[in-house]
Parts: sequence; C-alpha cells; structure tokens
Amino acid sequence: MDVYGLVGNPVGHSLSPPMHEAAYDRLGVDARYVTFEPAEDDLARAFEGADALGVAGLNVTIPFKQCALELVEPDDLAARIGAVNTVDFTGAAPTGHNTDAVGATRALTHHDIPLEGQAVVVGAGGAGRAVAFGLADAGMDVAIANRTVSRARELAAEVPGATGHPLGAVANLVTDADVLVNCTSVGMHEEDDRTEGTGAHDEDDADEETPVPADALHADLAVLDAVYTPLETRLLADARRAGATTIDGGWMLLYQGVAAFERWTGLEAPVAAMNEALRARL
Ligand code: NAP
Repeated sequence: MDVYGLVGNPVGHSLSPPMHEAAYDRLGVDARYVTFEPAEDDLARAFEGADALGVAGLNVTIPFKQCALELVEPDDLAARIGAVNTVDFTGAAPTGHNTDAVGATRALTHHDIPLEGQAVVVGAGGAGRAVAFGLADAGMDVAIANRTVSRARELAAEVPGATGHPLGAVANLVTDADVLVNCTSVGMHEEDDRTEGTGAHDEDDADEETPVPADALHADLAVLDAVYTPLETRLLADARRAGATTIDGGWMLLYQGVAAFERWTGLEAPVAAMNEALRARL
C-alpha cells in the first residue's frame, strides 16, 4: 500500500483526504492519504521521517510551503514561485513541485477560457505568485495588483512580461482584461479559518468584502476566485451579475490535487470522482 498525505498546521479540516481517496477508490489504487501536523519548526524532521518510512508523496500547506523549498530539490517552477506544495519521495532525493499554478490554469481551461490576452492577478502572496507565473508561462500578459504595492512590483519583476500595480488601480486594469484571478484572502469567511473547506454561504452578500469594485466587472471577463470559503464570494456574485464567467476556488483546489495525483501515480486522474468528493464537502 502506498501512503500519501498532507503536511500543514493546522490540517484538521482538510478536503484533500476525501478527494485523493475518491481517486484511489475509482481507479483501484492501493493507497491511503493521511494528514500530518508537525510543529512549525519541525518540517525537516517530518520529511526525513516520511522518507524513512516510505511515504510516497506529501502535499504541503500553510505554514510550510516556503520552507519546504529548502528541504527538497525543487523543479524550475517551484523554485521560481518560491514555494512547494507537492513533494515526491520516490526518487533518490525528495523533489518539490508547485501544483497551485496548474490548479489555476486547469480551472480556467476546464471552463473553456483561453489562456491568452490580458490577465489581472490580485494579490502577491503565495497564491498570487503561483498564479502569476502559471498564467505568464501559459502566454498571458499579466498585471499584478496588490495592497502592498512593493510586493506587486517585486513579483512583476520576476514574472516574464508582468507589471505591478497598487490595489487601487485594479478597476482600470480589469476594464481591458480577459481574465481576473483573486489571490487575496479578501472575501474569505473568518469562521472558515482552516486550510481547506467550508460550509454555509450567505445569500445576501452585500456586506461581504471584495477586492474589485463591482462596476469594473464586465461580460467579457472570466473571474476565478482562489477563495473557496464561501464558494460564491461577493466578487463572484458581482461578476455573475455583470455577466462574466465565474469560476469558484473549488476548481483550483480540485486541479492542484489532480496534478499532485497524476505526478505521484503516473495515472490520469478521475477528475469527476475527485470533484464529486470535494463538492460534497464544500
Ligand atoms: P498569503 O500568502 O498570506 O497572501 C495574502 C494576500 O492577500 C496578499 O497579497 C495580501 O496583500 C492580500 N490581502 C490580505 N488581506 C487583504 C486585505 N484586507 N485587502 C487587500 N489585500 C489583502 O495567502 P495565500 O496563500 O496567497 O492565499 C490567499 C487566498 O488564496 C486564501 O484565501 C487561500 O485560501 C486561497 N488559496 C486557494 C487555493 C485553492 O486551491 N483554491 C490555493 C492557495 C490559496 P499584502 O501583500 O498587502 O499583505
């Protein structure tokens, strides 16, 4: 039996175990997916232990994504993003990968959104970095807007062809954009303060926060919100009302898991089964 898992702190409400185990069940893979919660300064020992015990692969989440980079051999994309969310222990040395970038691009292509033209990425934290590199590598022109403008500019200097802007410029940037991705935590419910997963969603979103003014949104836009608690954020509700294509953060979460599954097993992931398991818990 192969063992996979998730390392984070906390990981109590993770949606990854049911999502990955649905894939094992569907394809008859003899494997289990478990969660581990090492102390914040104990990731090196956790990786050594996992390697020694024959764990085949680990996902990595908050607060370990950046420090994991120092403990594995990162691939080019993970090194550029500066964070690892997927570790493969099956080679001579553990290798590190970042599937958040492909999580976003496959969430878009699943909804028939071409990865061309102008993209606005709001946020320059871990998700923003991954999505900005993912969209630029796919061939899009990327504008990054962030509350702390220096982070947007620093990231833009690293991402091919990208530009960095203050958050206040986002309405102007969105006017001509084809794709908008929210990579801030704005709109995330405080009560859903966990690594993954949520429950209820308010029908009345008028009091919820959004990183982009509603009147900037338009029907030629595809809007992906990395936030998935709630599934329909105020941003997505505003985008839906503006006639935009809306894609919730569950799709990004799904496809980062799909990419990890495919890397680890070499099999084509049963996407529908994984999505069904995820949606049952979102
Ligand atoms: P992070 O590294 O802590 O970055 C947070 C980002 O949000 C920064 O750009 C920060 O701006 C911005 N921000 C926070 N509060 C803000 C506010 N009040 N107004 C404006 N901007 C604000 O977090 P992360 O890991 O990138 O995660 C961001 C979100 O993406 C979270 O909701 C997370 O759950 C979600 N996420 C989803 C997936 C998925 O698979 N769906 C994957 C990864 C992350 P400053 O730089 O100015 O602080």
